[in-house]
Amino acid sequence: MWDSKFKEALPILERIESFGYQAFFVGGAVRNQLLAIPITDVDIATSAPPTAIQEIFPKVIPVGIEHGTVIVRHNHESFEVTTFRLEGTYSDKRHPDRVTFIADLDLDLSRRDFTMNALAMDRLGSVYDPFNGQNDIRNKMIRTVGNPNDRFMEDPLRIIRAFRFVSQLGFFIEEETLSAVLSSIEWIDSLAVERLANELEKLFRGDYCRVAIRLCSELNLWRRLPVFNKIDDVSSLLANINSPLVGLYEVFAYIKLNNPAVQIKEIVREWKQSNHTFHTTKQLVESVELYMKSGLTPWLVYQLPSELYHSFIRLVEVTLGEQINENQLQQTEKELPIKNKKMIDFSGHDLIKLYPNRVKGPWVQRYLNEIESAIVTKKLTNNYIEIKEWVHTCHPPENA
Ligand code: ATP
Ligand code: MG
Repeated sequence: MWDSKFKEALPILERIESFGYQAFFVGGAVRNQLLAIPITDVDIATSAPPTAIQEIFPKVIPVGIEHGTVIVRHNHESFEVTTFRLEGTYSDKRHPDRVTFIADLDLDLSRRDFTMNALAMDRLGSVYDPFNGQNDIRNKMIRTVGNPNDRFMEDPLRIIRAFRFVSQLGFFIEEETLSAVLSSIEWIDSLAVERLANELEKLFRGDYCRVAIRLCSELNLWRRLPVFNKIDDVSSLLANINSPLVGLYEVFAYIKLNNPAVQIKEIVREWKQSNHTFHTTKQLVESVELYMKSGLTPWLVYQLPSELYHSFIRLVEVTLGEQINENQLQQTEKELPIKNKKMIDFSGHDLIKLYPNRVKGPWVQRYLNEIESAIVTKKLTNNYIEIKEWVHTCHPPENA
């Protein structure tokens, strides 16, 4: 049975072929189809040059046209279409210095990292497998296409990709490839951190992350990675991760929770991640710390956006070995008297009106925070009169 993603992409192969060019499904999609596991994205390789693809299809986004890659939009879906190519050396360790477009599928497959990824499938389902990738898939083997030392030197990202495929697929690294990993591992130092981050994220989220993490520890990978290389006994710390973490912010939060001296800002900066990752990491760390202090309180649930429930549950499990049920979070959320600040029946303006002689300043915000906390923890009802009464008679702001 073909994955529905292939079926959606089939008209693209057919159209390219109708213009006299070759077109194939390639890479991870073919590998996963043979393994009968879900496909993330369908990549297409073609003998047509990028300019021809632009003429053949009405909607084409030229994302990496100089490297031969364009995105074809079809039925509101995106498909990466890459012209058969050969790559030069990667002297900046980011992009190949030059790319040569070629007309030969076998040569295109020969530049790919592992035999299991050097497969192509045509529109009728015939598989092209010049490097015996299907055999390696059957034996669960990760093996480079060609000499592993040369391939790792050419692009050391392939080393960490090998580990992430161990994590995703539960495969083993073939002996010769593994010994090349060992002797080449220091080349990882030369890689752009953004490329590493992408693979590292996949490594921690794989179903077999425990096995992959153990292997990375055995081969001393952590010494080569920013932040990880500064953690004492990093192998023991990571050995406690016994289920996948999704998103680098979960990994960063795990590191911070176990190493309070490390600054989240510093972790995010060293890994060149976004402000969004910074805030998400911080939110998760604060929530787990609140949980450690007082359990699953309404205040904790109020602070935690629902899109982070799963991250929070995973982190509590990995960090504390405790299971939280998503229903518990949802039920607590449902019972919250307010969902956000905007729902408070009292404003900064109301507060200033109550204390007209007091100079406006940060006390207003501070005091609104107190009101918010009293409402969420049900010490105070969310009602204008009651809040006013509460402020005025029981809890006047200091020096008011
Ligand atoms: P996933 O299913 O996780 O997307 P994938 O195998 O498709 O896995 P991608 O990173 O999407 O991995 O890369 C697509 C294909 O491009 C790979 O299957 C491989 O053939 C090739 N490839 C990617 N990165 C490299 C690299 N650094 N060196 C050589 N070939 C690569
Ligand atoms: Mg892919």
